[in-house]
Amino acid sequence: MSARIVLARGKEAPQFRRHPWVFANAVEALVGRARPGDTVLVETHDGRALGRAAWSPASQIRARMWTFDADEGIDDAFFRRRIEAAVARRAVLPILAGQDGVRLVHGEADGLPGLIVDRYGEVLVVALNSAGTEKWRDAIVGALLRATGAAHVYERSDSDVRRLEGLEPRVGPLHGAPPVSTVIAEHGVRLLVDLVGGHKTGFYLDQRENRRLTRDLASGRRVLNCFCYTGGFSLQALAGGAREVLSVDSSGPALAAARASLALNPALDAGRASWRDADVFELLRELKAKGELFDLVVLDPPKFAPSSAHAERAGRAYRDINRLGLQLLAPGGLLMTYSCSGGVSAERFRGFVASAAADAGVDAMVLQQLQAGADHPVALAAPEGEYLKGLLVARA
Ligand code: SAH
Repeated sequence: MSARIVLARGKEAPQFRRHPWVFANAVEALVGRARPGDTVLVETHDGRALGRAAWSPASQIRARMWTFDADEGIDDAFFRRRIEAAVARRAVLPILAGQDGVRLVHGEADGLPGLIVDRYGEVLVVALNSAGTEKWRDAIVGALLRATGAAHVYERSDSDVRRLEGLEPRVGPLHGAPPVSTVIAEHGVRLLVDLVGGHKTGFYLDQRENRRLTRDLASGRRVLNCFCYTGGFSLQALAGGAREVLSVDSSGPALAAARASLALNPALDAGRASWRDADVFELLRELKAKGELFDLVVLDPPKFAPSSAHAERAGRAYRDINRLGLQLLAPGGLLMTYSCSGGVSAERFRGFVASAAADAGVDAMVLQQLQAGADHPVALAAPEGEYLKGLLVARA
């Protein structure tokens, strides 16, 4: 018989709302023995079964719910069902049609806590970020191959969150002979993705639809793309007919990949692109001092606030770059600004941008609220999964 965890009285509310995380302070007792990743039955203090979860003794998230049906077994067939459903959900989304780079499994929102699967053409890149997914690696890979027919699977379980689960980083091929890099087409633009050394699983798929928006807005504009990574926004801006695109990042390898991607697209006018290896905070000041102006500024910084504890310091950073970004806009210019900080809510982020506009002394308005693409769903039961938020702001 599998082990059980009993939730403390009054601490069951998240699971009554179908939230997948059971925090350490909500666990009254573990009855029986469970090793990391083992499946445990989850019960209320008075013995009512709520579902099944993966046990993770090293983490503050002590258990992650696999299912809210206590009768559902966690076995190979469970992973086949969940993964098939995740793939099928995306297959019917018109917005993903013809895209080579798609997130096929987005963790908690797809009912598979800790599992990330990104498809880059024929290659799947998998991140197992929890004790539960670590235990079920083989079942997960088998289910993925069955659901997708992909030729290659590569593991990139090297994010910081694994440490919180007491797991060592793990990277390497899981199936086939995955290449170290591949080329995807995004809205018809070819992009080099470094599967082994790139950030996350190699690329920021979550910004796909926002890069499309940049392209649609870019015609004739002078564009400044800050935190450009491998140039996704930059190349879309060129494809959209931007007059000039200045892209900035502090990572040499990312900029090298960006230039290599541009060379893969002979239809784009490389003469309109320039790349700067620089610190954005410094470069924005330098551009402002020189009196430069742009018609479209993209700010897509790294996570300044991994958790809400960092929100205040992050707020200063967001305020700083957004003030400078707005000051660099020509009248009528557009700012596309993002936060991928889990610790900063959409409302809070909007507040930072509002303060930035006040600091800049400009009138500005939100034209559109932006978020990750539909292949990065947000569970209604776990709204904190909405980590990426953005605003399309116009300067009056
Ligand atoms: N917009 C990109 C993703 C950006 S990820 C895309 O669509 O793919 C954030 C990037 O910010 C990383 O490439 C990182 O190298 C860069 N970065 C982090 N801090 C920086 C700083 N202070 N100045 C310049 N770049 C920075």
